[in-house]
Amino acid sequence: MKIPSVDFAIIGGSGTLSSNFPKNFADVEILADNLFFDTPYGKSPAFRLCSVDGKKFLTCKMHGWRSGVTRADSSRQIFWTFREAGVKRILSEGGVGTVNHLLNPRDLMIPDDYLDLSTRKDVQLDGKYLLIMREALCSELREKLLESAEKFFTGRIFERGIYAVTDGRHFESPAEIAMLKGHADIVGQSLAPEVYLAREIGACYANLSFVVNYGEGLKIWSHEVMKNIFFDDAQLIGNILLDVIKNTDADKKFCQCLSLRKETLLKEIYE
Ligand SMILES: [Zn+2]
Repeated sequence: MKIPSVDFAIIGGSGTLSSNFPKNFADVEILADNLFFDTPYGKSPAFRLCSVDGKKFLTCKMHGWRSGVTRADSSRQIFWTFREAGVKRILSEGGVGTVNHLLNPRDLMIPDDYLDLSTRKDVQLDGKYLLIMREALCSELREKLLESAEKFFTGRIFERGIYAVTDGRHFESPAEIAMLKGHADIVGQSLAPEVYLAREIGACYANLSFVVNYGEGLKIWSHEVMKNIFFDDAQLIGNILLDVIKNTDADKKFCQCLSLRKETLLKEIYE
């Protein structure tokens, strides 16, 4: 299967999973479904090729995670495919827990930085670049996410915050949340390695996180509420992401993402 050329990609997470995204969304055309690609890291997860306002994008479910494939490999399959497709702008979404005690379930956050506590290995493609992780979350895409979120969501939207990444699949212990306090605002499992891989392929990357539970030890949370958010808010999250694509130019970039990827100085190792 030939990989199609697209400018945009959406990495679906728990926010859109229940909506069969982007089926049943206005203005979206599904051009092809169940696309699998052979990558150097194994067969890719299923992609959908879609179009909104004439702009083509690829999307996959739940960060490509599936049983029998490591999460590191899932991410590498996705980003290798994005690189072959020529993707320039990537949006991801996912549910997160709180670390900052001011946050509540159903708050939205557009993180501007991260703290990677995951121990995932092999989270690069070919290592040809020195990746500078300044403004790792694209400032321009974050601005677009904020504008779109404000159109569709009347609750609280935090336009910056630090996302701590843990391995999962389990949630964090009370002691781990206590350790993170003061260092991060939210905690989740998907931002890394996606953020590194996006920089490696020279694409802009931003994330829309929505709070689904309190961090352990902060306040008792309800699985019922988490379940309701999972099913109720999928349309909202999808609408925001699609609106960003509609309002973003793939080529005219006002951010510095691409300039933060440099040729490696360790050429003897990686050539
Ligand atoms: Zn950018």
